Amino acid sequence: MSIMKFAKIFTAAALLALGVACGGNPTENEGNNNDTQSVEVVEPTLLYGIDIEGYTIENDTVRMGETVGGILGRRGISAVMVDRLDKAAKEVFPLRQIRADNAYTTFTRSYTDSLGEHSVVDYVVYHRNAIDYVVFGFVGDSVTVECGARPVDIVRNTCRATINSSLWGTIMEKDLPYALAAEFEDIYQWTVDFFGIQPGDSFAVIYDEKFVDSTSVGIGRIWGAEFNHNGKQYYAIPYAQEEGKLRYWEANGESLRKQFLKAPLKYTRISSKFSKSRFHPVHKVYRPHHGVDYAAPSGTPVHSVADGTVVFAGWDRGGGGNTLKIKHAGNLETGYLHLKGFAKGIKVGSRVSQGQLIGYVGSTGSSTGPHLDYRIKKNGTPIDPLKMPQEPAEPIAEAHKARFEAIRDRVIAELNGQEVAGGVISDDEIFGKKESAEVAPTPSTETK
Ligand SMILES: [Zn+2]
Repeated sequence: MSIMKFAKIFTAAALLALGVACGGNPTENEGNNNDTQSVEVVEPTLLYGIDIEGYTIENDTVRMGETVGGILGRRGISAVMVDRLDKAAKEVFPLRQIRADNAYTTFTRSYTDSLGEHSVVDYVVYHRNAIDYVVFGFVGDSVTVECGARPVDIVRNTCRATINSSLWGTIMEKDLPYALAAEFEDIYQWTVDFFGIQPGDSFAVIYDEKFVDSTSVGIGRIWGAEFNHNGKQYYAIPYAQEEGKLRYWEANGESLRKQFLKAPLKYTRISSKFSKSRFHPVHKVYRPHHGVDYAAPSGTPVHSVADGTVVFAGWDRGGGGNTLKIKHAGNLETGYLHLKGFAKGIKVGSRVSQGQLIGYVGSTGSSTGPHLDYRIKKNGTPIDPLKMPQEPAEPIAEAHKARFEAIRDRVIAELNGQEVAGGVISDDEIFGKKESAEVAPTPSTETK
């Protein structure tokens, strides 16, 4: 039998054998070439970017006083590996940022070899918060550190509510995200006195709620709000007048950040400043002087430095004489001492507005001459009125007016559950990256 004939028979036999191995009968395939057997690709199930196949996955919590070395050591990871991890993590997520009570997840792989059964921890995932995590990898001889974030679903909500108790109480009653209360207090800190909330006050707000696996994990952007307090309506319209700086504005373009008047009166000079220890001219002892003394003729009008409510109007036995105290938004309180008298109608409970006449300079109480001792407390702690942080409070500039008003109108429509012409507002419009619908670009005022 010739070699060529033998070779042909051998090849045919080999092909036959191959056909069987691939689970196909060559003859069949031979029949129709394009009917290839589709191999089903099984997508790996990933958790934190790790293929979970073959892993035992356990969740645990960092205990108070527990160290990374302790946690990893308990799971068979050597001190050398922990040291390498510490170095590898420095630039990515320094291990000292690991906090007690935060959760972590371990990925343990079991295998058997000639020495018996073994289980090793290949990954430890530390959860920084509901969204962000860090993957520490110990596969083979490598040590890796990678940050990741869980996919977040954003849901845009609008809600409206009347306050019967407190802002917090209402938010809990309505099962709204708690973070909303803090956002409100931040946005309205210069306008609404949250310690003076009245039953019947109300609010409406458009906000993004963040969900991870359908669990609410907090809120994102506040797209607009309305607060009705003491019969006054305060809108909060988001708009970035300064590059990249989001601020909230009233519907008329006034800033929601209010400044205190620099001083509550026209004065001739400052006769004494804020001090932790000053020699008292009357009592001849050193003691704190938590105010600024503005010298001015007796009878000089004194004005409230901001909107607020009178909480004390009477004789101060601590040497202040005729004294007024006014509570303002942002948990601020101002004090006006040694007054000759109070302005007409000023009494405890009076609501005053910025610049309103409240009293007259005098020299009542422990005083050596006519002057106003002016004081400020923030969260109950005296602060130096001359060092009071003043927020920029410019209104919307002319050049921004048209774009601002277009955004305002759409926010108010959305707050009222109405059809929003041009669609709901987006970050691109707030930050001026995209012209907001319906508004022609403002012609520049510059003369070429
Ligand atoms: Zn004084």
